[in-house]
Amino acid sequence: MNVAFFSTKSYDRSSFTAANGERHRLRFLEPHLTAETVSLARGSDAVCVFVNDVVHAGVIAELSALGVRFIALRCAGFNNVDVAEANRLGIGVGRVPAYSPYAVAEYTVALMLTLNRQIHRAYNRVREGNFSLEGLTGFDFHGRTVGLIGTGKIGAITAKILLGLGCRVIAYDPFPNQECAALGVAFVPLEELFGACDVISLHCPLTPENHHLISDPALAKMRDGVMIINTSRGALIDTRAVIEALKSGRVGYLALDVYEEEGELFFENLSDTIIADDIFSRLLTFPNVLITGHQAFFTRNALDNIAATTLANLTEFETTGRCVNAPPAK
Ligand code: NAD
Repeated sequence: MNVAFFSTKSYDRSSFTAANGERHRLRFLEPHLTAETVSLARGSDAVCVFVNDVVHAGVIAELSALGVRFIALRCAGFNNVDVAEANRLGIGVGRVPAYSPYAVAEYTVALMLTLNRQIHRAYNRVREGNFSLEGLTGFDFHGRTVGLIGTGKIGAITAKILLGLGCRVIAYDPFPNQECAALGVAFVPLEELFGACDVISLHCPLTPENHHLISDPALAKMRDGVMIINTSRGALIDTRAVIEALKSGRVGYLALDVYEEEGELFFENLSDTIIADDIFSRLLTFPNVLITGHQAFFTRNALDNIAATTLANLTEFETTGRCVNAPPAK
């Protein structure tokens, strides 16, 4: 197939070119897929998109008019694509449901431990010749209660790592993971989880129902000084509410690998520009907030798996008109 790749970086070109051989004709483009850039897909049978390409109904109508027949997501989440509208217009959609859940789970625990032991602050201090330990006190994770919201592929691996550290792990999931339950993870109602945890980590997809899952009412139920980790999707957290909770001390630690307005920021080098997002800038002022730019997935294993599965999705759709990795259309 002729495939137009949007939002590509050097690492996308390397991994896809190596995995593709001569099978599909790949055209790598730097811009995001938007209503303004959709015409770049002209002449393509398929487009390949990433987390911050917003493929809403208007873009899908344009893709259909250009003769595009398949949207290949090179990520797991599909909240940025109107799957139902694509299917209505006869456009297939495929995603990469799992490429390395270990990458994200390991990164999640790295964020927890970094924040707790303040390694992000210690690193800078030592480089300045400041070897003071004042303000760097952490706590033992052993024996602490960690609550996981979502126990799919990533949540389940995170649970296993945390059990290995000696944590008590509780979880909420509308479809509790039986393997986790067998390992000793207690499934509890969401409201109970909010009040029972020292650490809360998000591992569920973003859906219209759980937009701003973590907002004022949820924060009010949490323990003082709670640690919140989000490696899932930014809009699960109401950022304004969490800033107020950081100011009051209700939230004691916050790590974000995703941010609700990340589309304007992440994956780009903006070091020579002024960040216009005042909410994001306020977050950066807290010593107990650690933000990274959607890199939890970013291992060589994950990039290779993403390329292999995305190309297999394209081949399957080209040959059968179907894709085993089609996301559900709501
Ligand atoms: P998964 O589909 O294997 O598991 C998701 C789990 O969430 C399921 O068990 C589901 O029942 C549960 N769930 C659904 N709605 C829920 C809700 N409202 N409350 C609690 N649980 C709910 O997905 P996964 O592979 O474990 O990935 C989880 C999320 O991680 C993805 O949706 C994606 O948004 C995010 N992700 C982030 C990165 C990154 O680089 N930061 C990389 C990959 C995935």
